[in-house]
Amino acid sequence: MNGLSFCCLTFLLAFSSLHLDGQVDKLPNDVRWVRESDEYAHLCRQTFRLAQDAVREQIKNASGKKMAVVMDLDETVMDNSLYQVERHRQGLGFTQESWSKWVKRQEAGLVPGAKSFIDFLRKQPIRLIFLSNRMNENLAPTKSNLKKLGVLRTDDLFLLRVDKQDTKIIRRAEITGGKGRMKKTGPFVVVAYFGDSSGDFPSSAKEAFGEAHFMLPNPMYGKW
Ligand SMILES: [Mg+2]
Repeated sequence: MNGLSFCCLTFLLAFSSLHLDGQVDKLPNDVRWVRESDEYAHLCRQTFRLAQDAVREQIKNASGKKMAVVMDLDETVMDNSLYQVERHRQGLGFTQESWSKWVKRQEAGLVPGAKSFIDFLRKQPIRLIFLSNRMNENLAPTKSNLKKLGVLRTDDLFLLRVDKQDTKIIRRAEITGGKGRMKKTGPFVVVAYFGDSSGDFPSSAKEAFGEAHFMLPNPMYGKW
């Protein structure tokens, strides 16, 4: 492609969301639902509120043991829908490079209800473990973003992804077995898992959802 064609293509992509009359395209339904609907916000808050009662029960059952709640980050605690909007406006999709740049900007918001739930956890004898497929090299901007959002405590634990082989299955085994990165802290009884993807949970047992597994809605991306 010559330079002129490349410039034209870049221009077209950058303005592909604009109609000739200057009107901006509506966002795709999935992104609009997350950003603009009451339904999405109510559903998230409802999940987190019902989780409080379930966690209280789980704490009673695990009394005397070292307990943790494991939370995914993206679209579970952190709202990255602005990244989706920006990519849409540019006519582009997800790339690891653009995602990493977004993470470093530390501009993710909060999923509705997540802060209230984490505030509740702070009053419980529970350790919070963030288990996310964000790359471990982006740990500092991730922590800084969470701090800005008012949901970080200094003793929170982070298990981010070191490389492709470092699956969530491996990291969950470290939490419950007190091995690898969790050798220092020792094993935890996980009283609840939170995520927006099936891979965020140790099993797909239907009975676990609403008891110890809590799913947040995310229509924007996933492995369906
Ligand atoms: Mg997620």
